[in-house]
Amino acid sequence: MNNIISQIGNTPLIYLREVSELTSCNIYGKAEFLNPGLSVKDRAALSIIENAEKRGELKKGGTIVEGTAGNTGIGIALVANAKGYNVKIIIPETQSQEKFDTLLALGVDLIKVPAVPFSNPENYQHVARRIAEEEIKTNPNGAIFADQWNNLDNMLAHYNTTGPEILEQTNNEIDGFICAVGTGGTLSGVSKYLREKKPQIKIGLADPKGAAMYNYFANNKVEASEGNSISEGIGLGRVTPIIEEIEKIDFCYSIEDNEALPYVYNLVKNEGIILGGSSAINIAGAINLAKELGKGSTVVTILCDHGSRYQSKLYNKDFLKKKNIPIPLWLEG
Ligand code: PMP
Repeated sequence: MNNIISQIGNTPLIYLREVSELTSCNIYGKAEFLNPGLSVKDRAALSIIENAEKRGELKKGGTIVEGTAGNTGIGIALVANAKGYNVKIIIPETQSQEKFDTLLALGVDLIKVPAVPFSNPENYQHVARRIAEEEIKTNPNGAIFADQWNNLDNMLAHYNTTGPEILEQTNNEIDGFICAVGTGGTLSGVSKYLREKKPQIKIGLADPKGAAMYNYFANNKVEASEGNSISEGIGLGRVTPIIEEIEKIDFCYSIEDNEALPYVYNLVKNEGIILGGSSAINIAGAINLAKELGKGSTVVTILCDHGSRYQSKLYNKDFLKKKNIPIPLWLEG
């Protein structure tokens, strides 16, 4: 079927020249920013919706409710609009304006809530669950809670598509895979597939400051690292069913924004690739992993979403100044 849904996945694997030269390795980025919703989360959205359809939980005219930092909501809205469902999105008010604008343009029912920690019952993820439960009880056309943190269909999207694509695109010659964790769907699904097909592969975690996955995988303690990253969509503070699916992480890195962001700025200026902040954390992680695995090794990471989603933040000198982040020369203005 040649509709927008058929354009999700099968993204190119792009050679990242400068960081490959820097490490004398081959570092590739899976270009998830080229999905129709401009992010890796289109895959999870499609898998969650199609599996709910298969189980008979979702019927035409039904409503999909989700709590999201934005990209999952955009993916869900694209798929839902193409299939005839309604969408209700609960989002922290700190996310980028570009994400709100895209969600509104897609016609979703957008509910912004204050950004409070997960431990607070008013956290967007808990609000979303309560709204979904109410919707499931009362909506005559039916409803589902997409529940990306707990729904294994999220992970399966990457086990069934992203993982196999990466193995094929590297002709089986891949030594390492690394990425950050938002829900962990990508890391868990891709690593599960790659380990099955290539047991000697090394899997890495690139964790932003303020998240707990580094301590969980490195020290078996669920404890947030110090600091705070400006990256959106990554940085998990608890162990979920998707995280429990991860058998082992071989190398863990806790990465500073100031170490990572120059890589995305250089990619814009020198290689013409415009990415968001989570891709910076991933690329910094890929460099660390490549160094660990040695010269000539091949490492793949995820280029999670498109930089146009952060024009007002990552590519805005006033925002960068406020956050004390060095401003790339061409944004100085
Ligand atoms: N980067 C961005 C920009 C995202 O929106 C997300 C998803 N929240 C991720 C990375 C992480 O993906 P996952 O949920 O599969 O861990």
